[in-house]
Amino acid sequence: MATPAELMRELHRLLQLIRDLQEKIAEAPRQLAAERARLTRAETRLKEGQERLKVLKVRVHEDETTLKGLHQQIKKYEKQRESATTKKELDAFDHEIEHTRQRCSELEDQILQGLSDIDEQTAMIPVLERELADTRREVAAYELEAEDYLQRLQRELSQARADLKSTEELLSDDIRPEYRRLVNARGADALARMVERVCQGCLVQETRQKSYDLEMGRFVTCANCGRILYP
Ligand SMILES: [Zn+2]
Repeated sequence: MATPAELMRELHRLLQLIRDLQEKIAEAPRQLAAERARLTRAETRLKEGQERLKVLKVRVHEDETTLKGLHQQIKKYEKQRESATTKKELDAFDHEIEHTRQRCSELEDQILQGLSDIDEQTAMIPVLERELADTRREVAAYELEAEDYLQRLQRELSQARADLKSTEELLSDDIRPEYRRLVNARGADALARMVERVCQGCLVQETRQKSYDLEMGRFVTCANCGRILYP
């Protein structure tokens, strides 16, 4: 037969264990959501990388088409220039041709830059793909483990609840209502260990009388915080 002190200590241990398990169970979906968010971010990074590559390719293609048009324009001017009769006309064609050549040169620079950007972005894609594959594997492994972990916590919780119930049945009838009232209101905080006359719940020192009562195996609560004390 357990002494009242042993009984209270065991009840406190079980109440704390239950609280601890409940907190861990509540935390599990948040951690899982965080892992899944990490996967979504990796997917988004790859998608954005592919999108950017597509945009760069379209831009270079458009520039190349424009450049081709400008080259044709220059040929057209050169042909028209052949039939020019006055110096003014010749000068006008020379001016147009020069101006168009300048635009071609600018466009060529722009295309070169674009091609270099495409190379750079193309090299990024396998990196992002690898990153996504790694994250996917990690998250899948986490989900698998999390499932086992959660089931284990739930098993431990049911066991602790069953142990608590059978231990509570050992309480004497005269203290059970008070115990129940306090535990319903405060959970695991309804009890505290007393060490050298100090309540470990609120760290206030108890009287010698209380200490004596506790040693005698009586039901004692802290005068300051109202917790059920055990030595
Ligand atoms: Zn106290």
